[in-house]
Amino acid sequence: MSDAIVIGGGVMGLATARELRRRGRSVTLLERAQPGRAASWASAGIVSDPIGSGDEPDFLLEQLSRRLWPDFAEELHEESGLDPELRETGCLIPAFDAGAARDLERVVRARLIPGGKLLRGAELREAEPALGPAVVAGCWRPGGNVENRRVCKALEISARRAGVEIVTGAEVRGLIVEGDRVVGARLVDGSRLAEHVIVAAGAWSSQIEGCRPVVPVVPQRGQILAVDRGAVSLRQVILTPNDPYLVPRADGRIVVGATRELAGWDPAPTAGGIAHLLARAIEVVPALASCSIDQIWTGFRPLSPDGVPIVGPGALEGLWFVTGHGPSGIGPLPGTIALLAALLFDEDPPIPPEPFSPLRFA
Ligand SMILES: Cc1cc2nc3c(=O)[nH]c(=O)nc-3n(C[C@H](O)[C@H](O)[C@H](O)COP(=O)(O)OP(=O)(O)OC[C@H]3O[C@@H](n4cnc5c(N)ncnc54)[C@H](O)[C@@H]3O)c2cc1C
Repeated sequence: MSDAIVIGGGVMGLATARELRRRGRSVTLLERAQPGRAASWASAGIVSDPIGSGDEPDFLLEQLSRRLWPDFAEELHEESGLDPELRETGCLIPAFDAGAARDLERVVRARLIPGGKLLRGAELREAEPALGPAVVAGCWRPGGNVENRRVCKALEISARRAGVEIVTGAEVRGLIVEGDRVVGARLVDGSRLAEHVIVAAGAWSSQIEGCRPVVPVVPQRGQILAVDRGAVSLRQVILTPNDPYLVPRADGRIVVGATRELAGWDPAPTAGGIAHLLARAIEVVPALASCSIDQIWTGFRPLSPDGVPIVGPGALEGLWFVTGHGPSGIGPLPGTIALLAALLFDEDPPIPPEPFSPLRFA
């Protein structure tokens, strides 16, 4: 019997398990396949300053995470020997006509993009020489990316080294409940007992039987690809309104993502999805047209009905959730874990926890 069972080995489950172990708890992580091979692997790993107003829950979570990322990445590097490649490249939101440029200017003036700066003409071309003529202005803002596949691996190594028991091929069917308390997890082949059970099963979180409440997370499919950049020198993350985004990686790839589709569980990339991403990306950076395609893949984002992550205690004693991050689950990672850990250990939470409560679905 361990103090805690974590269901799911994506970034949320791995980072939760690592944090609990660092705080002295014995932890078993149950992963039905391999850790870090679902949405957390499929991601583009963009980590940027939040947009919007300072009293929205997402804004506060992302702001907190931005503060925590540098130390989080450094510690992971030290513990695992693997650099998660947190790179502060800056992000650029392009505008394609005068109207869109004016809109961007208004948003910048209203200070809804912290650190945002409108660039035009020579200043814009100098900041990002790879941009094509279709881009008439751009808003630069602080941000960058991590290599999310390295983050997953580093978290796994770090958690294992700290003493987390990671069980692969361990598919959880449901919770074991006694009265109003959860006492363990029922697997396809056997069971595990623990004082606390933390559901971090990503897009599959609603499928764990016996959860109270049932968190109504649905899969949002993202089609995404990477090209070998060749001679294309892209300096920063480009975030076009309504996608795609372009993310330059340290290893010479440029990641181009991603569609946002409610398409059930079909993992196959479609010709239409990939054509859409590439056509738009080439409009932004014409030189991409000559790049060779490195890889095409899909992933399922765990989408919550209100778009706000689900973090905190459930309606059974000992039951916790950390899921529902949708399109932003790598950027807000360190803040999410800080919030969950504070709630688990009865400490003052770093941001107001109520908007994230799973009990809003009770
Ligand atoms: C294409 C794409 C691009 C993205 N880009 C970005 C980005 O640029 N920036 C950003 O911040 N976010 C991005 N995201 C979102 C982010 O990747 C996710 O929100 C985040 O990775 C979710 O992590 P997770 O641990 O909740 O889920 P997952 O990584 O999906 O992990 C869930 C794990 O639970 C396991 N599991 C499920 N059911 C069971 C069970 N019954 N028993 C045992 N194990 C189980 C699964 O096998 C899986 O390993 C992107 C996502 C996608 C798909």
